[in-house]
Amino acid sequence: MDEKLRKDELTRTVKFTPPLYKQRYQFIKQLVNKHKPKKVADLGCADCRLLWMLKFCNCIEMLVGLDISEDVMKEKMHMLYPLPGDFLQPSERSLTVILHQGSVAQKDPHMLGFDMVTCIELIEHLEIKELEKFPEVVFGFMSPAMIIISTPNSEFNPLLPTVTLFRHPDHKFEWSRAQFQNWALDAAARYDYTVEFTGLGAPPPGKDDVGFCTQIGVFVRKYLKNGEPETVEEYKEHVYKTIFKAVYPSLKDEKYLQTAVVNEVVRTSQTIARRLLDKRKSKYKKVRDGVETDPPFLTSCFLKDVEDPSLTKADNPHIEPFINGQTVYMPLAKIFSVPKVKQLCGTFETLSKLITGKVALSNDGSALLIDTEYENEELENEHLFPSSKP
Ligand code: SAM
Repeated sequence: MDEKLRKDELTRTVKFTPPLYKQRYQFIKQLVNKHKPKKVADLGCADCRLLWMLKFCNCIEMLVGLDISEDVMKEKMHMLYPLPGDFLQPSERSLTVILHQGSVAQKDPHMLGFDMVTCIELIEHLEIKELEKFPEVVFGFMSPAMIIISTPNSEFNPLLPTVTLFRHPDHKFEWSRAQFQNWALDAAARYDYTVEFTGLGAPPPGKDDVGFCTQIGVFVRKYLKNGEPETVEEYKEHVYKTIFKAVYPSLKDEKYLQTAVVNEVVRTSQTIARRLLDKRKSKYKKVRDGVETDPPFLTSCFLKDVEDPSLTKADNPHIEPFINGQTVYMPLAKIFSVPKVKQLCGTFETLSKLITGKVALSNDGSALLIDTEYENEELENEHLFPSSKP
């Protein structure tokens, strides 16, 4: 076969959709969704793309990236800051994202206590001395519940027409499946992990014997850990340099919870008050037009028989809002019966505590007060308010 034709055929056969790097991130995301780790570290995180994807996984409360290159992390680390929407609607979970500059060949107490550690296309960038240290640091010292390591499978390289020696000029080596598996099985045995092998980027038909383009080892710690190992004493010193930290707004933080509760209480109260006032207005119209006579209603009124059953279910008049003169009384019990408010506060006492001092309350603190001066002016302007009529 002519050389050009052969190369064209190979180029066609090795195009992965979606691209392989995205498939690797997706692979990690699936493992996160399955195992729900709270603390995840990405070693050799480069431009933080995987970290950015993982920040949307709701189970994760601590996300840490480590790379030897500060510059490469800084390229896109701004993507890891909370967005305005995170402040407007804080999440239930807490999330802290941290980036450290340092080497996987060094032990630092910042890296203890993780549930999952990912090393995507990292090990082939390590110098021989660093690679020798890697199992001791990652499996022995960090000892997370799960470690995922991916690396190129050199047996696939003949199918990549542009590859001469290695796939990237910074690669220090590329391993066959047997080489990677020997190394991985040895590390797993030494540090009490199991390991399973898989991969991404299947070879083209007829080339199955070369294996996946990316080879992956998924390591699971065999033993349960209580606290941190005694070796921590030796490694109390922080050798990594922290270059980024973002603490996301969370409803677990009372400051954000209070803002969310006050916003919800005000919104809910205004919705209910609006209905009450509309009802009063239509009553006034009927009285003015002689369709109805209901004098007591003219000075005060309860909200009943309005459309939204979730807001009016309570038959108990003590939790029904009412208008007295210029003020709408919105009992806190009524506000607490609204599902969103109940979900945010948990208890009636928490609701009282969080809104006290932030909204106007009745003397006994049992109702929120809404001033309707403007509404009354509107009624007067429309000649609906009886007191304004001679
Ligand atoms: N994990 C990234 C991903 O999947 O998108 C890409 C990794 S990139 C191919 C390899 C990264 O390892 C580089 O960002 C490099 O700076 C980093 N690295 C190399 N040696 C390191 C070391 N000793 N400790 C930590 N990171 C290292």
